[in-house]
Amino acid sequence: VERVFSGVQPTGNLHLGNYLGAIVNFVKMQETYNCIYCVVDMHAITQGVDVWGGPAELARNTREVTAAFIAAGIDAKKHIVFNQSQIAGHAELTWIFNCVARIGWLNRMTQFKEKAGKDRENASVGLYDYPVLMAADILLYRATHVPVGEDQKQHLELSRDIAQKFNNDFVDSIRGHGFADGLFFPQPEPLITGPATRVMSLRDGTKKMSKSDASDNSRINLTDDADTIAQKIRKAKTDPEPLPSEEKGLETRPEADNLVGIYAALAGISKQDVLKQFGGGQFSSFKNALVEVCVTKLAPIAAEMKKLVADPGHVDAVLADGANRARGIADETMRLTKDIVGFIRQR
Ligand code: ATP
Ligand code: MG
Repeated sequence: VERVFSGVQPTGNLHLGNYLGAIVNFVKMQETYNCIYCVVDMHAITQGVDVWGGPAELARNTREVTAAFIAAGIDAKKHIVFNQSQIAGHAELTWIFNCVARIGWLNRMTQFKEKAGKDRENASVGLYDYPVLMAADILLYRATHVPVGEDQKQHLELSRDIAQKFNNDFVDSIRGHGFADGLFFPQPEPLITGPATRVMSLRDGTKKMSKSDASDNSRINLTDDADTIAQKIRKAKTDPEPLPSEEKGLETRPEADNLVGIYAALAGISKQDVLKQFGGGQFSSFKNALVEVCVTKLAPIAAEMKKLVADPGHVDAVLADGANRARGIADETMRLTKDIVGFIRQR
């Protein structure tokens, strides 16, 4: 069975985009793959402490993302759920990949440009190296499939380039260890197939919904209560026109398109069917229906998350058990990789 790996950062404000673009897909993948789902706490500290909130907040958010995974339906016994920093291999493999990846490759990464903003000189080296750590996350488990949202496509391409360059740079050594050419590190494929692969901000239909957006009104958090969800959706930016009855009427209306897309994803129907039902009608009545479907879908997950985070001992035990099983796979990859590179290790 092939292996799936994916991660979510514990930076707080887990939102509907993370749910529809990633977590729903994580749950689905369990039927066909061996899955490893990681709370990427080492990625979380790449921006300023004002973004990730400091030590207490980081620990709290790590447990919250773990709780969200379980509450959404990830089976942590059958598959693996753990936090990244428990396995030394992520950092070790990143160093080796830092020496394989090229500065020119990283300079093209759009997420760095967006997150670093204007003051690029003052961004952390970790933020710049984020995509290399991500390649190490995936390839440490020699995972072949990576369910992610649309925004991570470019990083997956970089992971493939790193895998390929490592396989080429060390081709003789890899042969010597009994691997066919090009097959030591697999080329990980993105699975961008969730019900909504790019959920946009409620305040700006051209910007993705994000944990790190300063405005809480830009996103629906998985832990928002019914009143908050209702308020955010009622306040969500729209244009004055009623909804069209055909999808092509949404092409130039990003905010309307986004809300219709969210409704379709949550209700499990097509956008065309949403428009059949609400086209021509007033936005306000569509928004009321959207509130209802949002609350119906998210409330049970929020309730289960609440129960889980109330018992941090249990959540930590899930992470420890996951880390123990992940370590078995990671250690094997590191042993082989060090031998391939020529690092002497204790035998
Ligand atoms: P940040 O803004 O801090 O990067 P984020 O909201 O992008 O936070 P991540 O932890 O970086 O969250 O991403 C976790 C997963 O959620 C990734 O697979 C990512 O592609 C997906 N994802 C994030 N935002 C969206 C979105 N708006 N729509 C669909 N998928 C998304
Ligand atoms: Mg992100």
